[in-house]
Amino acid sequence: MLLKLENVKTYYGNIRALKGISIEIEEGEIVCLIGANGAGKSTSLMTISGVLTPVEGEVLYQGQSITGLRPDKIVQQGICQVPEGRMIFPLLTVSENLDLGAYLRKDKNGVKADLDRVFSLFPVLSDRRGQHGGTLSGGEQQMLAIGRALMARPRLLLLDEPSLGLAPIIVDSIFDIIRQINQDGTTILLVEQNAQVALRFSHRGYVLETGEIALTGKASDLLKNEEVRKAYLGE
Ligand code: ATP
Repeated sequence: MLLKLENVKTYYGNIRALKGISIEIEEGEIVCLIGANGAGKSTSLMTISGVLTPVEGEVLYQGQSITGLRPDKIVQQGICQVPEGRMIFPLLTVSENLDLGAYLRKDKNGVKADLDRVFSLFPVLSDRRGQHGGTLSGGEQQMLAIGRALMARPRLLLLDEPSLGLAPIIVDSIFDIIRQINQDGTTILLVEQNAQVALRFSHRGYVLETGEIALTGKASDLLKNEEVRKAYLGE
């Protein structure tokens, strides 16, 4: 098991955002967390990446507790998050944004190889390497945010709403690349309000409802599930 959340509770003051969730991710999987606005999806990712500390429960990575570790220590262990809204640096160039993803690394040759890999996954970033991040389209900024995370060479990549604000055709091309990144060996946990696309590209899924896991299973089964279809697929 690569990652395990055991009965994790995360609060914002007295707002109980996660009320005891348990999630398991095997190496090599793409797993999605779906759910409505405010269900606790982003809170789950931020609890894994160390931005938030749970009040109860454990986050285990490769069998070891990482609960309460600082975010930079968690990145160094191989978990990297692409936050909602991309959070790229608009006044830095594409290349400078990518370099920042590797700031904790000392292996210059490895960094160079990963930069080549990012440019081959996202040729448009190579074409625009000298351009300011803020001048890119929404889809290109999402690519830059994912590329920057890959520069940390993660074993587990956390993606928060990669489809947010993007046209359907761009969403599909980004998910094709996410699948490619997974096939190249990176495990992926993604959070999406767009349940349709998330389930189409994932192996398994969890449905979050007001801070609790309401349902889990193979993505193909969840896509067929009556409750999921009604509540999250607009049918
Ligand atoms: P969205 O897709 O809208 O981001 P989400 O499923 O990711 O939704 P979270 O952002 O994890 O949901 O929010 C879970 C709950 O915690 C919500 O009730 C939300 O209002 C609350 N919450 C989130 N961030 C904060 C915060 N900084 N302070 C207080 N409450 C918060």
